[in-house]
Amino acid sequence: MSKVFIGVGHGGKDPGACANGLRESYVNLIMALAMKAELERHGVTVGISRTRDEDDRLAEEIRKCNAFRPDLAVEVHNNAGGGDGFECFISGKNETARRLAGQIEAEVKGIGQNSRGIKVSTSLGWVRQVNAPAVLCEGFFLDSADYRIADTAEKQRKFGQAYARGVLQQLGIAVKPQGRPEPPAALADRRSVQERFGFDDATMCYLDGYRFAGALYRRLAETK
Ligand SMILES: [Zn+2]
Repeated sequence: MSKVFIGVGHGGKDPGACANGLRESYVNLIMALAMKAELERHGVTVGISRTRDEDDRLAEEIRKCNAFRPDLAVEVHNNAGGGDGFECFISGKNETARRLAGQIEAEVKGIGQNSRGIKVSTSLGWVRQVNAPAVLCEGFFLDSADYRIADTAEKQRKFGQAYARGVLQQLGIAVKPQGRPEPPAALADRRSVQERFGFDDATMCYLDGYRFAGALYRRLAETK
């Protein structure tokens, strides 16, 4: 059985980039949890550095990842500095990582995001110190007009699912069609709950994981 480790950038006291009402540590988590769910739907065993908003130092992520001994490792970040598009970093010393980066890049383009390319980094700890073939994804820029491609949890989940499909291709696992999309009524309930209670995207993401989330949203949406 295939094993994949997901590193979730930042968290807790370290928010990462913040702009346009988005906080990178939250966005990274929403993308990573969507990626995890999609991989698990295909029978992949997933290790992840955090599943909620908590401190998550890079050194600890790398230690956990190496202890997990995954077949592939993906670190999820998003960008700042006023650019536009996705980019993916690799060490340049591992052919599998290079192919994985290419598969992920193709899937990201498939959801409408442009790519700045696959880049070799000699300084990023993640790509240098992780033993498995490893890539580090920067999905979009929070601080430029690029943020509109991922300014809701729904759009952020699409990135995570695209990363998962890239991983599945690299693992040689056929991608299964998505289950039935959520009925519009359920999405409307979710939206009205978020607006009414003023929950942020990270909170909604947490609630989505509850197995009776659909029923909960319906009840809350109906409550006067
Ligand atoms: Zn980051």
